[in-house]
Amino acid sequence: MRALLVLFSLLLPLSLSTAQAADKLAVVTSFSILADITRQVGGEHVQITDMVGPDADAHTYEPTPDDAKALLKARLIIKNGLGFEPWLDRLVASTGTRAMVISASRGVIPRSLDEDGETVSDPHAWHNLANAELYVANITKALVAADPANQADYQRNSQAYLKRIYALLAEAKAKLGSLPPGNRKVVTSHDAFGYLGQAYGIDFMAPQGLSTEREPSAAEVAALITQIRNAKVKAVFMENIKDARLLKQIAEESGAHIGGTLYSDALAAKGPASTFTGLFEYNLDTLYDALSQP
Ligand SMILES: [Zn+2]
Repeated sequence: MRALLVLFSLLLPLSLSTAQAADKLAVVTSFSILADITRQVGGEHVQITDMVGPDADAHTYEPTPDDAKALLKARLIIKNGLGFEPWLDRLVASTGTRAMVISASRGVIPRSLDEDGETVSDPHAWHNLANAELYVANITKALVAADPANQADYQRNSQAYLKRIYALLAEAKAKLGSLPPGNRKVVTSHDAFGYLGQAYGIDFMAPQGLSTEREPSAAEVAALITQIRNAKVKAVFMENIKDARLLKQIAEESGAHIGGTLYSDALAAKGPASTFTGLFEYNLDTLYDALSQP
């Protein structure tokens, strides 16, 4: 009897922790920014598998066999949408997963751009906090639909998180709204900040388009350097997901000042930009520091 009890007490912690993991809602997110927003709202009730991690480039991502396994185990798959993750759509179709698939950007009014003669939607909608509010609402709704038992917690977490987003929205308006009119032209590696520019009247230019897939030609880089000189661009910024060599070359040849690094399509692995609100605040401060001086 005593031996049996000992055995039982040895087994108990193991079986409890397995039960706890099984109780959690299995969610797959396509990239790090969505993983963080889902974590903020889902809290202890969700088990998140994120596909494209911190500092990595989702445009050129190639899914792994582990990603396919995660999709099959998931009950909810959260993607950005607006054409950001064509590789995920293909993987969802090929695995035949029965998970619910949602686009966090649902309801966003997309910016569309002309690229190589084609009209394409800009997927980087998270850089406008008014859109981020929609992301939070869509993710909350999906978590509640997939796991109604924890509805109250999801809604409470969501409200608390939105309060932080509203505070950040006010800070962005105050800081970026106060920039001198002549200091509102900047360059980044790829066209990731169009929604931020649209919200605050900043003109972002880039040697690469909406995706990082196509490398710019020498003629395109030369044209941008001329444009930087003529348009009196205030600063050029590197991006965390990109090799900085091209940007440094552009800064050197155009005489433009390097304003620092902006977090475009991924969180940082650690430090202040390792959450979405932290990323936004970091970008805000970096832009403000570089552009507020006369
Ligand atoms: Zn991008």
